[in-house]
Amino acid sequence: MKVTYLSHSGFLLELEETLLLFDYYKGDIPALPDGKRLFVFVSHRHHDHFNPAIFELAGQKPDTKYILSGDIWLKRAPAHLQEQTVRLKRGIRWEQDNLIVETLKSTDKGAAFLVEAEGKTIYHAGDLNDWRWDEESEEWNRQMAEKFHKFIEPLRGKEIDAAFIPLDPRQEGNYTLGMDYFLDIANAEKVYPMHMWDDYSVIDRWLSEHKNHPGRGSIVKITYPGETFEQ
Ligand SMILES: [Zn+2]
Repeated sequence: MKVTYLSHSGFLLELEETLLLFDYYKGDIPALPDGKRLFVFVSHRHHDHFNPAIFELAGQKPDTKYILSGDIWLKRAPAHLQEQTVRLKRGIRWEQDNLIVETLKSTDKGAAFLVEAEGKTIYHAGDLNDWRWDEESEEWNRQMAEKFHKFIEPLRGKEIDAAFIPLDPRQEGNYTLGMDYFLDIANAEKVYPMHMWDDYSVIDRWLSEHKNHPGRGSIVKITYPGETFEQ
């Protein structure tokens, strides 16, 4: 599978017969190869995860399927695409077109996606993360951690081919909590950090602070928008 980092939390995945686009916000979407069906996922409605430009892709690929989290109104999709748009509630399993999608509750708006396609298991967290902040009260942070651990529990012991996990430099000292917990409970071949706000040094920081971490080898070092990875 080929993974293209678009920007922020946006990634395009190319499988044998399928293209999966997640949380497109900005950056160039590369030319889409012929003969592969496109599935577009949006984890929630915040502007850094949802760019209505995604609906223009149906001009190139008329059978594109749009899989939106339930917090996005159907009317956000153009009328002529609403029939090929599905809105998924949190915490459900949806199966169609050889695709299995499970949605996890998020600690922010919307959902995280666990997708099975062509025998590959892909996890895109959206904004499901341990959003603890130094500025918040101890109680607020305690509740955040509790919710995060509960919502991400379905991933415990899961074998995942490619995982897309927030690593947000704005969290300062707390930036590593969500990533480290994910690495503890799940088993991912490759982990693509995201939600970095163009600050890729946060990956170097993680690597330098986790020299002996068993999950270290799975972390993909992203350095620029448009970068591609084969796995
Ligand atoms: Zn976000």
